[in-house]
Amino acid sequence: ILDGQQVPSLDRARAFAAQKHALFIGGRWVEPVEGRSFDTHDPATMARLAQVAEAREADVDAAVRAARGAMDCSDWRDMKPAARARLLNRLADALEANADEFAALETLDNGMPRGDARYFHIPHAIETLRYNAGWATKLNGETIALSGMGDWHAYTLREPVGVVAQIVPWNAPLAMAVAKVAPAIAAGCAVILKPAEETPLTALRLAHLVAEVGFPDGIFNLLTGFGEGAGAALTAHPGVDKVTFTGSTEVGRLILRAAAGNFKRVTLELGGKTPVIVLPDADPARAIQGAARSIFTNAGQVCNAGSRLFVHDRLFDEVVEGVAHIADAMKLGSGLDADTQMGPVISAAQRDRVRGYVRQGIEAGAALQAGSRAVDDGGYFVAPSVLTGTSAEMAVRREEIFGPVLCAMPFGDADLDRIAAEANDTDYGLGAVLWTNDLSAAHRLARRIKAGTVRVNGGGLDPALPFGGFKQSGWGRENGREGIEAYTETKAVAIAI
Ligand code: NAD
Repeated sequence: ILDGQQVPSLDRARAFAAQKHALFIGGRWVEPVEGRSFDTHDPATMARLAQVAEAREADVDAAVRAARGAMDCSDWRDMKPAARARLLNRLADALEANADEFAALETLDNGMPRGDARYFHIPHAIETLRYNAGWATKLNGETIALSGMGDWHAYTLREPVGVVAQIVPWNAPLAMAVAKVAPAIAAGCAVILKPAEETPLTALRLAHLVAEVGFPDGIFNLLTGFGEGAGAALTAHPGVDKVTFTGSTEVGRLILRAAAGNFKRVTLELGGKTPVIVLPDADPARAIQGAARSIFTNAGQVCNAGSRLFVHDRLFDEVVEGVAHIADAMKLGSGLDADTQMGPVISAAQRDRVRGYVRQGIEAGAALQAGSRAVDDGGYFVAPSVLTGTSAEMAVRREEIFGPVLCAMPFGDADLDRIAAEANDTDYGLGAVLWTNDLSAAHRLARRIKAGTVRVNGGGLDPALPFGGFKQSGWGRENGREGIEAYTETKAVAIAI
């Protein structure tokens, strides 16, 4: 509310974006030591959106000191779990009260349709805060029965892992940030969040809410900046106990190396090349809608995007035509327009990369079933594309494109092991989707597929459902009990009686 007038959420979001943004360290907004800043852009118009502080090594150092100080302070160390839960619930309430503004900010920053932000990303972040608030009071150790010599009473404690650096990408900025912050705070850690340089705005707005709802100083710190400056300094810093990272497999490898210095605990959520498998008994209409949603949501910039579609011969033409029709009919535009179905991709580099993959696929002999239409070059738009006739060695089939590009492949009356082998023929193992009403086939394939999540006939994300990857899709899990336990160390205590 400005001057007693209710200001529309989009105007509030624009006004927030236009503010001068600093770093949030030790409960205060501070200027970066080197005084640098950088611009972010609206991907739908390429217009400058915000000017953001650029954290570098000295700021990382200050944030680590603030977080360490807060961790060691009795205010936080001795805070009851129920009080930590209340902080998270208050943050969830504050986010809910400002959900329209957060959705508008996410759309301006990332380009996603505003409805997706308002009815999926923001509510998911709110639920994640509340779900993890519930865990704060339920993180117990165990009593252990010992069989060795002597009479002992033994038990385990679950202690917070300590200072955690949390580095997130641009494709789901707030949801990814909260998926890390909420369990860490519930477990009693202190965090330093680094949002992606492309999309810092919802994290910045979240820091304002953190201050409003009364988190102790230094428990939540926010550093905006680049991967090579702020991100790399965080992962190498000896004062950081754990790094949780969502992003590319390539950067995941760099993080592992940097974390080796002081053996930081590491959780990695990396890339994917999710197979969508349509068995011959599936309802083609539902499979078509599901396959299209799986690859075109968020312009394909989803780690779990269903980028490889395997369809039984009998349904292949119908399903491919159906998905291609949806692709060609999708309304592309600014996420702020109510009728937009797909927004832009994040940047010029990403647009060129995605288009390059499609071009390369065609040159290597694939056929374009959808995606040849011209798109508005006033923003970073890419036509949703469907390719057939690819082979298993082609880059479009093997590499994560992170754009709205689908490769569709037929299979015959092969046994399920062969279908699973084709689906598993990738370095990644994040997700898989099956379309079938054959219970036995669904269970058999679910067992054989090497992926962290298998969805049958739809299903979505939930803060209670462990999420993460096999193979080069990552280390560890977020969400659920495993997600929060990853922010704890187990301590065994044995007492001679
Ligand atoms: P990215 O790896 O380039 O960047 C992610 C984050 O890491 C950014 O904040 C960036 O600043 C930071 N970073 C870059 N270099 C760094 C370094 N050397 N040290 C420390 N931090 C560094 O990824 P992106 O292009 O922003 O995001 C797309 C990728 O994220 C895709 O590969 C996608 O699959 C993956 N992703 C995975 C999940 C998952 O849960 N598995 C979810 C969403 C996205």
